[in-house]
Amino acid sequence: MDKVIITVAPTGNVPTRETCSDLPVTPAEIAEDVYRCYIAGASVAHIHARDKDGKPTADANAFKPIIDKIREKCDIIIQLSTGARAGKSAAERGACILLKPEMASLSTGSSNFSRTVNYNPPGLIKELAGRMFELGVKPEIEVFDISALEYAVYLAEKGLIKQPMHINLVFGVPGSMGGIPRNLFFLLESLPAGCTWSVTSIGKSHRQLSALAIVLGGHVRTGLEDLLELEQGCPVSNLQLVERVAALGRAYGREPATAAEARKILGLKTLSAG
Ligand code: MG
Repeated sequence: MDKVIITVAPTGNVPTRETCSDLPVTPAEIAEDVYRCYIAGASVAHIHARDKDGKPTADANAFKPIIDKIREKCDIIIQLSTGARAGKSAAERGACILLKPEMASLSTGSSNFSRTVNYNPPGLIKELAGRMFELGVKPEIEVFDISALEYAVYLAEKGLIKQPMHINLVFGVPGSMGGIPRNLFFLLESLPAGCTWSVTSIGKSHRQLSALAIVLGGHVRTGLEDLLELEQGCPVSNLQLVERVAALGRAYGREPATAAEARKILGLKTLSAG
C-alpha cells in the first residue's frame, strides 16, 4: 500500500480566533503552521484565505502571499480552495486558479452546509473544471454525496477533468452525508478505477473514518477547518491533528508520504520541473 498522504486544512472559512485561539489567519501564521505540520508528516496544504478583517475571501491577492510564504519554507503541495463560502461566481471563485497552484478544490455538486448552501450549479462546476484543465491545475474533487461523485465521473468521461482523479470524500458536515462507515463503503463502491481518494470527516467521526481510510488504502485530511477539538471540550492545534493522523498511519503500517512521494502518488510534476 502507498504511504499515506496527509492533507492539512489549517484555516478554512468558518473558525475564528475567538472560537479557536491557535487558528492561523495571516499569511505568516498560515505558513508557519503549515511548515510545522509538514515536518510532522503533512504533504498537502489545503488553503483558504482571509481578508484584513479575518473574513473569508476568494481574492487571488490574498492567496498569493500565503503561497509565497509557504514556498519560502518547504515544498509541501499547495491546494487552493475554490469553495462556495468565500465567493459567488465562477470568475470570483476561480480567480485563485490563475495563480497556477499545483492543486485546487472542485466541488462537483451542491449540498447543505449547516445553515448555508454549498452552491455548485453545473455551469459553475464546468467553468472551474475547464479553467483548471487549461492551466494544468489538478483538481481535488470534493464529494459530499453520491451524486457529486457520479457527476465527477461524468465530467471525466466527457474529458473535462483529467483522469486519474483525486477524490476527497467528505463526511459529517451538518446537512450533508453523515460520518458513518456505511456511507464511506457505499461511496468506495462507486469510485472510478485508478483514482486516488482521501477522507475528510468533520467533527467526532474524524478518528474512526480516518482510520478506515488508512486501512482501506485511502488518504486523510485533517486540520482546524474540520475539527476544533481532539476530544470534547479539548481545543486542538493543526500540529496535534496531523501528529494524530501520522500516528494512526504508522499504527497500520503506513508512514506519512513526503511531499515528493505525494506528488508521485497524485501524478503531479516534481516541483523543480514547474
Ligand atoms: Mg475548504
